[in-house]
Amino acid sequence: CGIVGVVGCKCATPVIFDALRRLEYRGYDSAGIATLVDGRIERRRAAGKLDNLAALLEREPLAGVTGIGHTRWATHGAPTENNAHPHGTERVSVVHNGIIENFEELRRELEQAGHVFTTETDSETVAQLVDFHLARGLSPRDAAFAALRRLEGAYALAMLFAGHDGLVIGARHGAPLVVGYGEQEMFLGSDSLALAPLTRRIAYLDDGDWVVVTRDGAEFFDASGERVERAVRTTALIA
Ligand code: GLU
Repeated sequence: CGIVGVVGCKCATPVIFDALRRLEYRGYDSAGIATLVDGRIERRRAAGKLDNLAALLEREPLAGVTGIGHTRWATHGAPTENNAHPHGTERVSVVHNGIIENFEELRRELEQAGHVFTTETDSETVAQLVDFHLARGLSPRDAAFAALRRLEGAYALAMLFAGHDGLVIGARHGAPLVVGYGEQEMFLGSDSLALAPLTRRIAYLDDGDWVVVTRDGAEFFDASGERVERAVRTTALIA
């Protein structure tokens, strides 16, 4: 029910974790974080309260400067650790808010193509679909766009790609997502409140937009893949 992404933070995990805390008010039943460590995707997930994830991170810290985080409100699949986001493969890691309406059809297609699913969620379908396109040689942004075109339903997404430190791709379709601008670091969040202590410079995705976020900034695209501009606003100070 909450999404966070960071690119180029000195230490991604505590920044993501604190932002997840600020999204707790939305409600959730499990949580998780994935980062890139030496170009590989590493993740930690826990059912229940964020305190459980905090305890896990205490035992098994997670390095990295680029990462994504999620608080889940289960719609498809029980609220277990294994169904907690991020979901993915060695190539890609995905967090998702919302519901992928056509996930059964997509899952069948992907299973026929040899993909092995490890969770009961609708969300894993997104990760496996992006993975399918990465495996056939598409770049992260082309693979993300190819996958987005097949999705039906409501979603906010953030995606992390193995071997691509400094890159997170986000998408918004019927669920909120904002981009935050820092100094040599960039953020994604479900709302500006999640990013409030990190930056007050926020750009809102229009519905149907997707965005390629790197240390240098954000490139916005509409649902047809056309490059679009989205204004950066300065949010009011929160007392
Ligand atoms: N439908 C997804 C799931 O059940 C995402 C739910 C959410 O918005 O947190 O895992």
